[in-house]
Amino acid sequence: MSADKPHQNLAIIGHVDHGKSTLVGRLLYETGSIPEHVIEQHREEAEEKGKGGFEFAYVMDNLTEERERGVTIDIAHQEFSTDTYDFTIVDTPGHRDFVKNMITGASQADHAVLVVAVDDGVAPQTQEHVFLARTLGIDELIVGINKMDVVDYEESTYNEVVEEVTQLLKQVQFNTDDASFIPVSAFEGDNVSEHSDNTPWYDGKTLLKALNELPEPKPPTDAPLRLPIQDVYTISGIGTVPVGRIETGVMETGDNVSFQPSDVGGEVKTIEMHHEEVPKAEPGDNVGFNVRGIGKDDIRRGDVCGPADDPPSVAETFQAQIVVMQHPSVITAGYTPVFHAHTAQVACTIESIDQKIDSSSGEVAEENPDFIQSGDAAVVTIRPQKPLSIEPSSEIPELGSFAIRDMGQTIAAGKVLEVHE
Ligand code: GDP
Repeated sequence: MSADKPHQNLAIIGHVDHGKSTLVGRLLYETGSIPEHVIEQHREEAEEKGKGGFEFAYVMDNLTEERERGVTIDIAHQEFSTDTYDFTIVDTPGHRDFVKNMITGASQADHAVLVVAVDDGVAPQTQEHVFLARTLGIDELIVGINKMDVVDYEESTYNEVVEEVTQLLKQVQFNTDDASFIPVSAFEGDNVSEHSDNTPWYDGKTLLKALNELPEPKPPTDAPLRLPIQDVYTISGIGTVPVGRIETGVMETGDNVSFQPSDVGGEVKTIEMHHEEVPKAEPGDNVGFNVRGIGKDDIRRGDVCGPADDPPSVAETFQAQIVVMQHPSVITAGYTPVFHAHTAQVACTIESIDQKIDSSSGEVAEENPDFIQSGDAAVVTIRPQKPLSIEPSSEIPELGSFAIRDMGQTIAAGKVLEVHE
């Protein structure tokens, strides 16, 4: 990674087994993101066993092994650079909490690659992830129609799946003119970094070219400071040190800040990053800092730190658009699951279901419906049971989305339309 290229957070979405992990492995491999000594080590092993294609096999073994252990792949393995950008893969495909992390994860995706296996077409999670990506404000997709080798690189089969995916994108109102469709084989490497001779009928972009040509994400430095607190430490010689990642804005020593909803504040004395003191920190920076007069019990995980003169809002109630992904029965007013927003986890009551939204047209399908269920989109009014700092997603998208969890799984996701303080 270099300091001079803009950074992109990329989500890889799509149905299970459609080839997301394989594609990530392929991207890391072809962009030279696997350290040389690791390849070297694997080369020796592979030669002993008399296996070919060892380098790529190594990446895949590693991804599979880590996934089976249920852990997130080492962060160093999730980054790659192209000519234009440094990419970080947001979360690990196949990770148990992929959907939840996609919403509340440390970093939100700027863009997404949708993987659809050509021999299966649009499948349930294809729909779910596309719907979610749309709800969360990703408005451009790169669509990799994968496993082209399985159908002998047939143009007609490719076109059928492109048509099927186009219909789905239109349904959720993606601008399909902005979507790139690319016939790929993650396994064989076709059309990933170089045009493949196996698809002479395709003259569009390779996957890497499409990634290179993504629009640059708008740096959130212009927005007010928003720093969700992940943990609070006491460090001898310094005092209370809240830590977290700056989502928007900048923090400088001497700034007057406010923690909400704890509703305390003071002057920033020191900021530390990677064990070094810095005068200033920016979006994406993980920092520990010290604020004059703030003790360990004054603030907590889930607080958001912002400027004293433009503090993070605390919602008495808020209106949000949600998408119900999986709920065994129906959701009615009064339901009180746990909401996960940035670093906060707060039980919230769905006070009223205001409108059901037709997902194919985006229009209001029903005013004040009695209930909603899996697959439905709706506008709802929510009352947090404890103070919660959250922002309208139109103002600060980084702090305007949440996941709703119940019974150990993510049952819905949403974005905040309006906050009533
Ligand atoms: P994920 O669940 O979406 O991450 O899917 P994986 O990457 O684990 O792939 C699922 C299976 O499909 C694995 O056995 C892969 O080897 C296989 N696979 C992935 N991509 C391709 C491809 O382009 N061609 C072929 N033939 N198999 C593939």
